[in-house]
Amino acid sequence: MKPFAFHRAASVEDAVALLAQTGGRFLAGGSNLADLMKHGVEQPPALVDIGHLDLAHIVTTPSGGVFIGAGATNSATANHPLIRTRYPVLSHAILSGATTQLRNMATGGGNLMQRTRCPYFMDTSFDACNKRMPGSGCGARTGFHREHAVFGGGEACIAVHPSDMAVALAIAAAAIALGGVSAKPWRVAAAENALIGRAPTDAAFHVAAQHALAGAQPLQQNAFKVDLAKHGVVRALTAAAAPH
Ligand code: SF4
Repeated sequence: MKPFAFHRAASVEDAVALLAQTGGRFLAGGSNLADLMKHGVEQPPALVDIGHLDLAHIVTTPSGGVFIGAGATNSATANHPLIRTRYPVLSHAILSGATTQLRNMATGGGNLMQRTRCPYFMDTSFDACNKRMPGSGCGARTGFHREHAVFGGGEACIAVHPSDMAVALAIAAAAIALGGVSAKPWRVAAAENALIGRAPTDAAFHVAAQHALAGAQPLQQNAFKVDLAKHGVVRALTAAAAPH
C-alpha cells in the first residue's frame, strides 16, 4: 500500500478544510476504501478520519420523515426502531447484505458512495477499465460480465451500483426499484403505473414484473438476470402485500 498522511478531523468544518488542503479521502468505516487502497485502486495522499464526528443521528424531521446521518452505521440504521417500523424495506435491504461485522463498521454515507465491485475495476492487473483508467476500454463487455448491467449500460461501462441500501432508499412511495441491473437503482415507471388502481393479486404482480424488465439489454453471460429480476419483483410485491 502506498504511504499516506493521516489526519483526525476535529469538526465537520475541519474535515472539509483538511480534504481541500490534502486532496485526500474521507475515512469513516473504511470497509470499501481500505479494500481499494490495499488493491492499489485508490492511492490517496492523505486520509481524513471523520468516523468519530457527530454524524450518526437518526431522528424524525418536522415534515414527518426520518433523517439518517451519513455517519450512522448500517447496523444502527437497520436496527433503529424508526427504520424498522416506518421503513422496513430499508431495514431488510441492509440486513440482507454483507456480514454483521461489515454492517457494524460501514456507514450509510459510505454505503451510498461506494465504488463498483466490477472485478476489472478492483484488480489493477487488468489493463482495460474505463472507470479506473479513462480511455482504456471496458474489459467486462467482452470478458466476464455475468454480474453486470442489463439496463442503462453503454460502450464505456456496464458496471452496476453495489448498494442494496440505495435501492431501498429509491422507494419513496409505491415504487419498484431493481438493484444489480444498472449503475443506479433502476426505477421503472411503467411497472409502477401497472399496479396503480389494481388489486394486489399475483396476476397484477406478474404484469408489473413484465413491465419492469421490458427493454433490458443483457449480454451473453448475464441474460439470466432478466428472469431472476422478474421473479424478484413478484416475490417482493407478494411480501409487501402480505399482512404483517
Ligand atoms: Fe471498468 Fe468496464 Fe467494469 Fe465499468 S464495467 S468498471 S469500465 S471494466
